[in-house]
Amino acid sequence: MNTPSLVVSNLRKVYQTNSEEIVVLDSVSFTLQAGENMAIVGPSGAGKSTLLQILGTLDQPTSGSVQVAGMDPFQLSENQQAKFRNERIGFIFQDHHLLPQWNVLENTLLPALANGKPRREHQERAVSLLERVGLSHRLGHLPSQLSGGERERVAVARALLLKPAVVLADEPTGNLDQQSADTVAQLLLEVPKEENTVLIVVTHSTTLADQMQKCFELRLGQLHLKA
Ligand code: ADP
Ligand code: MG
Repeated sequence: MNTPSLVVSNLRKVYQTNSEEIVVLDSVSFTLQAGENMAIVGPSGAGKSTLLQILGTLDQPTSGSVQVAGMDPFQLSENQQAKFRNERIGFIFQDHHLLPQWNVLENTLLPALANGKPRREHQERAVSLLERVGLSHRLGHLPSQLSGGERERVAVARALLLKPAVVLADEPTGNLDQQSADTVAQLLLEVPKEENTVLIVVTHSTTLADQMQKCFELRLGQLHLKA
């Protein structure tokens, strides 16, 4: 039962430009158990987004390995990897990435659409997550009819819809006022823990980082435990 949910070993990422090699990640290793959460802080350009993108299989490492619930997603075929990403990884971006022409409920159901029409259980889970994030009265609203904090809460509900193994959030409160940021942070900390989901949050907010179980700084390509 105690299989770690996420094992990252010696991850390295080098970008090759015409004139030089840029080493963005250099032997990054860590392990998180089911339900654990971790903050990553660090200066702009440190490689935080690159790390999250690799963990979510949106980008490839130059070397090293990632295991999610005992599986190495980089060993999968392209189709299997897309399915893995959709079902096992939840992404939350700073600018929410909601589809403007879809309402709140439809946007939340997006991950369930990969396999055709969402099933009734997905509908029920979407409604209950939206209730949980305080948006049950906004199901039919379009993203343009919501505040920034509300949009980010929809993104949280959407990321959690399929009960992923790992949720990755890239500066989820970066564009929000303090009160909205606090609400989003609270939901992010509560729901994954209840559902045994690993949560990694890249953030500039020390308030949020301080509330997480582990906090690392990414500096010169390596993770350093913050005191
Ligand atoms: P952060 O999220 O910490 O601000 P990023 O992960 O976005 O940092 O970027 C880390 C570094 O990698 C930056 O120096 C950036 O310029 C570089 N980088 C990101 N993507 C590419 C790319 N496709 N080609 C070359 N360099 C890149
Ligand atoms: Mg970034």
